[in-house]
Amino acid sequence: MKFCRYIDPTTRAPRYGIIDGAEIYPLEAENIFAVELDRTPLTDTVNASDVMLMSPVTPSKIVCVGRNYREHAAELGNPMPDEPLLFLKPPSAVVGTGADIELPAASSRIEHEGELGVVIGRKARRIADADEPLAYVLGYTCVNDVTARDLQRRDVQFTRAKSFDTFCPIGPLIAIDLNPLDLRVETRVNNQVRQQGRTSQMAFPVPFLIRYISHVMTLEPGDVIATGTPAGVGPLLAGDIVEIEVEGVGTLRNGVRAATTAAVAA
Ligand code: MG
Repeated sequence: MKFCRYIDPTTRAPRYGIIDGAEIYPLEAENIFAVELDRTPLTDTVNASDVMLMSPVTPSKIVCVGRNYREHAAELGNPMPDEPLLFLKPPSAVVGTGADIELPAASSRIEHEGELGVVIGRKARRIADADEPLAYVLGYTCVNDVTARDLQRRDVQFTRAKSFDTFCPIGPLIAIDLNPLDLRVETRVNNQVRQQGRTSQMAFPVPFLIRYISHVMTLEPGDVIATGTPAGVGPLLAGDIVEIEVEGVGTLRNGVRAATTAAVAA
């Protein structure tokens, strides 16, 4: 089963649905994460091509994992960390499939990072050793951890480089009942393959990450973990189309456009 979120053509408000190929079955539920949840779909379907898909989640935070694939750490000249390297992206950076990534004027090197996204389904705080971390997952999606590489190097820490508006495309949907341990993750720019990896190559696999992060910060329903990117990161230029495909999920597709405002002078 796959959840999506879209603009309801009648009410013009965001709505959750179950997406099945070209058809969306609208849900009455306003929150697909509620414990007591009626996910009974309505019978009147809408055509997926007739509506605008939005990010399938509105996370309170996006927890990202740096250098979780050995070959990617090596391509940037970084050592592998002994523990997961965590940083955050703000919810204000989130856009859905089909939206444009805006290249900020403050950077001259913006890169794609295609990643498996883990969508948290219920509150996770200090998950015990005997407890199964995957039981806290609602499903999986695609994330593009867009990065201003020059600013990341200049600032040392990652906040500015990872946080510009539109720097966190998520979608196109949330796939339930997926095993996250060995999925293909691929990034294409203008139909050319740039990144290709499998989640089995992660230094810290998904269950470990969820437990580890839950001992740092409480994970709320709808929060997203961006689990790190395989090798092959590269630049995004105005006019590009960037696609992130995760096996069993689908393809997150975004255009890229030039900055609309000048950089703030220091
Ligand atoms: Mg990343």
